[in-house]
Amino acid sequence: MNSYDSDRLLESVRSTHEQVKSPETADVIVFNTCHIREKAAEKIYSELGKIKKIKKNNIDTKLIITGCVAQAEGKAMISRQPIIDAVIGPQMYHKFNKVIEEVKSKKVLELDFDSQDKFKYLKKKRLNFSRSAFVTIQEGCDKFCSFCVVPFTRGAEASRKSYHIFDEVNHLVENGCKEVILLGQNVNAYHGFDKYNNEVNLAKLITSLEKIKDLKRISYTTSHPVDMHEELIELHGYSKKLNPYLHLPVQSGSDKILKLMNRKYTKTSYLQIIDRLRNKCSNIALSSDFIVGYPNETRRDFKDTLDLVKEVNFAQAYSFKYSSRVGTKSAKNKINNISNEEKNDRLQELQELLNTQQRKFNTDFVSKKVEVLVKGKGKKINQYRGTTKWMQVVNFQLSKEAKSIENVKIIKASNNSLLGEVL
Ligand code: SAH
Ligand code: SF4
Repeated sequence: MNSYDSDRLLESVRSTHEQVKSPETADVIVFNTCHIREKAAEKIYSELGKIKKIKKNNIDTKLIITGCVAQAEGKAMISRQPIIDAVIGPQMYHKFNKVIEEVKSKKVLELDFDSQDKFKYLKKKRLNFSRSAFVTIQEGCDKFCSFCVVPFTRGAEASRKSYHIFDEVNHLVENGCKEVILLGQNVNAYHGFDKYNNEVNLAKLITSLEKIKDLKRISYTTSHPVDMHEELIELHGYSKKLNPYLHLPVQSGSDKILKLMNRKYTKTSYLQIIDRLRNKCSNIALSSDFIVGYPNETRRDFKDTLDLVKEVNFAQAYSFKYSSRVGTKSAKNKINNISNEEKNDRLQELQELLNTQQRKFNTDFVSKKVEVLVKGKGKKINQYRGTTKWMQVVNFQLSKEAKSIENVKIIKASNNSLLGEVL
């Protein structure tokens, strides 16, 4: 979502500013930040050391911090790092235009939660075009998982109007886009309104987007298991454009930990969702997020997570060590009874298992013919890079200009990508 937001921020000042290649030549430097884990949030401060030197040589250069660190730390950021000139929270991006002017003469803070205004602003046409585009359809979250800062940094759950999304996607497709990835912190909880004020859920929204002729692929992320409703599961069975891919974070396989996390599902109910999905779409690639070392997670709880992984067989996954975030319920409990060493061991064990599954998923594609949506040039001469419908990266060689979609035979697989040759 930060990637999408960065594009929108840039687009909103295109009439007065252009993007430069290095910060040394910039009038304004913007850091769009992530607060989800401590490591991501701290990164910003280590980066700022470099900017300090640039600002010393060019006293008119302004430094703006956007994103969730800006929202969470607000004014305190400026006290900690006085070289910061403005701090803008994610729900105030429609003010970016104004801030970029105001910051020339004073420090600026924009930290309200005014999401409707932003969504109105987002209605404006896009300027950045590519074959595959992110489109935010929903923001914020009301779920309050015990470990998570999102409800505090992105605010309450809000959905954009379905016809605004349709217009944005249609415009992208008119300009060459073939795949959209619909975004939301809780994307499958989407419930926007159409022109006639009828409520539209995610399945209905996807069905309406499928009517855009030259749009070939649709994906959505990130979903919560509790909002994986029947209509959406069924859509995976018959949709011609929905990618056979789902990122469905489970976090843990232990019912005790899931309860402490306030996730509102059990290991069994998660597995039932996976069964229902596979009944409709047998070749679906499943992806997930995991947290290891959550307070009070015993070795036995961790084993429940490993068992769940073995049962599901994931095509891809992201896993993290628990990170205490200020303001969340689990941070307030102040229990942190698992040593860092133990957390590292569990993370390694889990990742080894997940990597084996991912490698197996990819290796099964060797000798298969797949459609690759070409997304750009690869690192080598005459090399192109694209993705399958299962969201795997494919590299292939071609000495002429590649079409937007190429039929490719997979000849080699690794953990993170596939190698193919054009048929
Ligand atoms: N809305 C999604 C997740 C969004 S946050 C969901 O409900 O699943 C993205 C991922 O970051 C989470 O799935 C979780 O695995 C990880 N994460 C969030 N807060 C974390 C924390 N405090 N410590 C470690 N990982 C965290
Ligand atoms: Fe965070 Fe996702 Fe839970 Fe919302 S549902 S609080 S975004 S982990």
